[in-house]
Amino acid sequence: MTATPTTAGPTPGTPETIGIPVVSGVHAAPAPAAEVPTGWPGTVCGPTGHDEGGTTVTLPRQGAPVPLAADLWWVPTGAANAYLWRDPDGVVVLDPGLPGEEDVVLDALARLGGRPQDIARIVLTHWHSDHSGAAAALATLTGAEVLAGAADAAVLRGESRGTPPDLTEDERPVHEAIARAAGTVMDAPRIAAARDLHDRDRLGPGGGAVARLVGGHTEGSVAVWMAARRAVLTGDLARGTDDGGVAFGLFHVDRARTAAALRELAAPDPVVAGFGHGPPATGSAASALRVASDGVAEGDGLGEER
Ligand SMILES: [Zn+2]
Repeated sequence: MTATPTTAGPTPGTPETIGIPVVSGVHAAPAPAAEVPTGWPGTVCGPTGHDEGGTTVTLPRQGAPVPLAADLWWVPTGAANAYLWRDPDGVVVLDPGLPGEEDVVLDALARLGGRPQDIARIVLTHWHSDHSGAAAALATLTGAEVLAGAADAAVLRGESRGTPPDLTEDERPVHEAIARAAGTVMDAPRIAAARDLHDRDRLGPGGGAVARLVGGHTEGSVAVWMAARRAVLTGDLARGTDDGGVAFGLFHVDRARTAAALRELAAPDPVVAGFGHGPPATGSAASALRVASDGVAEGDGLGEER
């Protein structure tokens, strides 16, 4: 599959070329409400099968970077969400997407005035291929290193098999439908050089981003905490919903551990939360994460979009 940037017309409010500047303020430029997407296309671990009543809103163009905080951008790759941030020694890419979507990430970087060789690190929240599938190609194109939570890095290196999700009754038909449509999402890509991340490892110089080895979605799932930006990137622990809310993610190996991780990630009071699928939460991210965590106690994660 080859993903190419769409040629749709300009999206109001989306910066085109900003030379990877510092966007002033912690939450200077949240995702504009007009860009909150519905019916996330090609979603794999994200919301599926939910018709919210035909709401029509504008989907961010694939590859168009949306600023979330200082030097931090959200990049919808098509199947999932990538994030880019700038460190003193280069750009970090989180979750470059399905195989072929490395082109989407590089296009986003180019829109920000960056070059492929500016990418210093590729960080993966987990081994599912809608997040990790483009990492090997992107590493080859850029020379960047690839980092994943230790248990998931072993899966990517081919040393172990990833544990399949413990599906709820409600998740099962959704998962089967995705398997029919996408086939190989639960086949880990092979990344021989994937390096291990451990809890609280710094993801680059300066301490701007720290890995939290949270598990729950997969055994080695990683979230990223950025204290200076008051931002958290959760991977598939949670997902953004069409109405701007946050819901419990889908297809976890351990739902209780996922819920506990969301509460822990809410504790430092993030202003911005970015998810593996769906739009980010801005402004009240901490409370939204707590609501998503609490929802699992009563619901299945599919019907608890609040
Ligand atoms: Zn996943």
